[in-house]
Amino acid sequence: MNCLFCSIIKGDIPSNKVYEDEWCYAFLDIAPQAPVHCLVVPKEHISSADVIGADNSQTVAKIFEAIPKIAKELGLANGYRIVSNIGDDGCQSVKHLHFHILGGKKLSENMA
Ligand code: AMP
Repeated sequence: MNCLFCSIIKGDIPSNKVYEDEWCYAFLDIAPQAPVHCLVVPKEHISSADVIGADNSQTVAKIFEAIPKIAKELGLANGYRIVSNIGDDGCQSVKHLHFHILGGKKLSENMA
């Protein structure tokens, strides 16, 4: 399967790594939409948050255990936003589950 984020996890495509453990890989977004913009992806290929279920929810739980560590590493002591886009209406451009971590300034109250 040709997946951009699987290639980044494997190291076939370079990235600015922020964090890695058994379950997930985090790296800086190539086109940041905030002063700090990081992506957290599962090492297991999961196409989007719309297919989270009993068979893969442990991976998702591990990502959410990692996120506070990643946020600390990124210096986001004042808060941040987590976003996951799903499908066409959600404007998901990469079909590998990922959580955007956005911060480094007071973010817009408008989310849509
Ligand atoms: P989404 O639109 O929610 O699917 O998010 C995909 C994100 O991946 C976008 O914010 C892109 O800027 C980001 N992106 C695409 N290619 C790369 C790359 N090679 N390295 C880092 N981030 C990337």
